[in-house]
This record gives sequence, C-alpha cells and structure tokens, in this order.
Amino acid sequence: MKVAFLGLGIMGRSMATGLVKAGYEVTVWNRSPTKPVEGTHAASTPEDAARGAEVVWLCVSDTAAVEQVMFGLRGAFNSLTEGAVVADSSTISPAATLKFAERVRERGADWVDAPMTGSKVAAENATLIFILGGNADSIEKIQPLLGVMGKQSFHMGETGKGQAAKLVMNLQIAMIYEGFAEAITLGAKLGVSLDSLLPLIQASMVRSGVIEYKAPFVSKRDFAPNFPLRLMLKDLRLILEAAKESRVKLPALRTVEEIYDLANEEGHGDLDYAATLMLLEKWAGVEVKGASAS
Ligand code: NAP
Repeated sequence: MKVAFLGLGIMGRSMATGLVKAGYEVTVWNRSPTKPVEGTHAASTPEDAARGAEVVWLCVSDTAAVEQVMFGLRGAFNSLTEGAVVADSSTISPAATLKFAERVRERGADWVDAPMTGSKVAAENATLIFILGGNADSIEKIQPLLGVMGKQSFHMGETGKGQAAKLVMNLQIAMIYEGFAEAITLGAKLGVSLDSLLPLIQASMVRSGVIEYKAPFVSKRDFAPNFPLRLMLKDLRLILEAAKESRVKLPALRTVEEIYDLANEEGHGDLDYAATLMLLEKWAGVEVKGASAS
C-alpha cells in the first residue's frame, strides 16, 4: 500500500519510520528541510507526496497547518486520488475537521480524524492510542496502519468526534498535570521532598498515568519537549473554543490556560508542558527536584 506521510515532527517521524519498517511504501514530506527518514522517498511538496497514495497521513501542529498542507498552494488536495483516505493525527478543531472532510469527499476521497494519545515515547514504541471519527469503511482501510503505529484505537463516532474526544482527553491531562505541579510545589515549600512524595502518590488513589509518565522527567528536571508546551496551549484554546460554542463553562481550565500563556511568555513554549512547573516555582521561590537531578 502506498502511503504519503506529511509532517515529520516529534510524533510524525517515529510514526512514518514504523510504517516503513512494516513494509509500506512511504513518501514523506516536511515543511522545512529535515533529516531523511530511512527507506522513504522524500517529496518536495504535499501535492507530490500525495500523488497515487491510497492513504495520506497528516501529523502537523494545528488547524492552520492542516489547512495549508491539504488545501494550500501545492497542497495534497490537488493530487488526491479518488478512493484515497486522508487520516489526520494532528490535534485540530472538530468544526474545521467537518469542513475539511466535506471538501475531500467532494473529490471522491474520504477523511478520518485520527488524533492520538500517548506521547513521544508511545510514538517511538508504537503504543499510541488512536481516537477516531469517520466512516467505518475508511477506518477499516487504515486499520492495518493504525495497528502498526499504535496499540489500540477507539472509534468515537462520525467525523469530528475523534477530535472532540481528543480535546476531552487533553482537558484532563492538562488539569491532572497542573494538580501534580501545584502539589509538588507546595510540598517543596512545606519541606516534603519529591522523592518521598512520589511513592506515596502512586500507592494511593491520587496515582495516574500522567504522573507516572511525567514524574521521572520532572525529578531529573528534564524539560526537553515530549509534548511541547506551545502545542498543549493550542489544545487548551481549542478546548475553550469548543466549550464556548457548546455553552459549557470551564473555569478551572481557563485558569490553567492563563498559566500556560504566562509560561509561554516566559519563553518556555518549546519546552515540554511539564515546564509550567517552573512558573509555579518562580512564584513560590522554590525549586522541585528529585535526587536524580544533576
Ligand atoms: P512538532 O514536533 O512541533 O511537529 C509539528 C510538525 O508540523 C512539523 O513537521 C512542522 O514542520 C509541521 N508544521 C507546523 N506548521 C506547519 C505549517 N503551517 N505547514 C506545514 N507544516 C507545518 O509537533 P508534534 O509533537 O509532532 O505534534 C504533531 C501533532 O500531534 C500536533 O497537533 C500535536 O498536538 C499532536 N500530538 C502531539 C503529541 C506529543 O506528545 N508530542 C501527542 C499527541 C498528539 P516544521 O518541521 O517545518 O516546523
């Protein structure tokens, strides 16, 4: 099967690599020059990459990027084959997803929203969880590829419902991490070390996968991006936009967004979202770290 993979960032590069290893014929494209993905052909435009592809997989930053890559100058839409499936693993607006899908369907192709949960490590280990919206037939077509890149998929309903569910998931991730960050900041101020707190947290009902994933990085004060803060901020804005459209109040998330805004202004946007901790530390005049920190 011929696959075009568009977007070779933190997630996309590992996903495209997995597809090549599984034997797919993959053509890749990335906006800026990047190191080659072994075993792939590199195209110079999305239009060239998508030509003849049965599946066009997108993994770019945001809604504007998806629009640009699909429908912009030399976009994938220009060469989309009838019967092709566009699978979008970027986290973008559910409302925009509906519009993009409609345009693609007018071409005789189809659209599956396929955002994912699981971070850089899950992309590397092919243990992503895909959250799908769209037609069952098209999902069936891309199922083998989902199986190569991830460990599980959940079909949430029609087009846009995958993106909607992804926003619901990231609302929780952002709030859980914020709770953890505030708790360990207070802990440090009260003289309770991170090393003594972590086993207590994970033995109790406070435990969570988010903390399990993030704690080792926080402990070492390794804020290199697994999921960049600027992208979580983008997601928080998408969540608040969807909440506003559907008349749901999210007062706690609004405060979390403010923290991300400030952390972004402090220059932490390209760090992992775990770096929001640094803002809390600054306000408290304390630094949280484990014994493993250098
Ligand atoms: P990333 O490392 O920042 O990569 C972003 C990719 O999008 C790069 O290939 C970038 O190209 C491309 N891009 C940005 N703007 C573009 C534009 N206007 N036109 C064309 N390409 C553009 O991000 P990532 O972590 O791989 O995330 C990709 C998507 O997956 C995002 O929607 C993110 O929210 C979602 N996601 C990420 C994670 C995670 O843990 N990292 C987990 C789940 C979901 P350049 O190289 O030229 O900048």
